[in-house]
Amino acid sequence: MNTQDVLSMFGQYVIANYGRLPKVITRGQGNMLRDLEGNEILDLFPGWAVSGIGHCHPKVVAAICKQAGELLHIDNTFYTIQQGQLAKLLSERAFGGKTFFCNSGAEANEAAIKLARRHTPREKYKFITAEKSFHGRTLAAVTATGQPKYHEGFLPLPAGFVYVPYNDIDALHQAFDEEVAAVMIEPIQGEGGINEATPEYMQTIRDLCDEHGALMVLDEVQTGMGRTGRWFGYQHYEITPDIMTMAKALGGGVAIGAMMARSEIAASLIPGTHASTFGGNPLACAAGIAVIEAIEEDNLLDNAQKMGDYLRTRLEQLKEKYPIIDHIRGKGLMVGVQLNMPGAKIVSRCLEKGLRVNCTQETVLRLMPSMTITQAEIDKAITILDTVLAEGQQA
Ligand SMILES: *Cc1c(COP(=O)(O)O)cnc(C)c1O
Repeated sequence: MNTQDVLSMFGQYVIANYGRLPKVITRGQGNMLRDLEGNEILDLFPGWAVSGIGHCHPKVVAAICKQAGELLHIDNTFYTIQQGQLAKLLSERAFGGKTFFCNSGAEANEAAIKLARRHTPREKYKFITAEKSFHGRTLAAVTATGQPKYHEGFLPLPAGFVYVPYNDIDALHQAFDEEVAAVMIEPIQGEGGINEATPEYMQTIRDLCDEHGALMVLDEVQTGMGRTGRWFGYQHYEITPDIMTMAKALGGGVAIGAMMARSEIAASLIPGTHASTFGGNPLACAAGIAVIEAIEEDNLLDNAQKMGDYLRTRLEQLKEKYPIIDHIRGKGLMVGVQLNMPGAKIVSRCLEKGLRVNCTQETVLRLMPSMTITQAEIDKAITILDTVLAEGQQA
């Protein structure tokens, strides 16, 4: 089979709900991908932030191979060591909460929405979320997502969602009333274009939630698992959430989602209130445990911080050369390059030259390299980006 054969197979049999790049990927190792034609691609956006410690990390591969030989799946009618251990490791690295496991970010946010409604008094049913946020594609999660383009064609949406401009403290005060069950927010908006919450904003959310008996829910699906240089994005602030959701990098490439809640709140999910058939199965949890161990054994939180700083320094140098770059923002390995024109062409020209980056909100190049990225790999990426930007200037 060649690339064209695979593309035709998709044309005939796979629902075309994604805008895909015309490449068939056959291998991934560390920060490199290989396509069906044998071309190598340096991946600065591995798996949309899923492959947070690189593709096929040897420790994750070893852990899932071992687990696959022992027990792939068992339903939540029973206990497993792996689910308990992963919950413990997460709790110790976050705020000491208890965890419910599911299979994706959207599901983790659904769980958070259901828990917040169930835990708070009946008259509290509203969720305040931010404009440009992204919380997933299931009906409640997409309604929480403050981007009208994702709501088109799906009306009527579930009731009770209120949107406020991100980082706007006055708007938050105005939106708050006694009907608010929770505020759901990303510490750094990913899909929304790498927008960081200010410390004052996070503190205001915390204070307003406490004042009104509402819950502070942080969506750490993209910011979590070390990407920003700390385990979770909220750890750059002086606040603690009531509920936090995770997915993406948590399984190192294996599907898993998780919602952690403070114990008193978690107690509201009694048997029968919520469930997931696949959630927290031993394969996914073995992968999650291996991810956490790899991050600690290889000092990857440090590396994320250092390499993030290095990447931003190199990008600042490009900014001096190319007026198309407006500014650089982000934390750790969550980096946005704000352009003053659309970036889609840059993404496809980089790919032709063997570099994968992403563009979001039309004008923001999003670079989210794995936490195993090296200085040499960043240099290589910058060289390609430099060439592409130079060509763009001539054109
Ligand atoms: C990707 C993402 C989600 C959705 O996760 P899925 O696994 O695709 O359901 C939710 N929230 C944030 C912040 C995300 O980046």
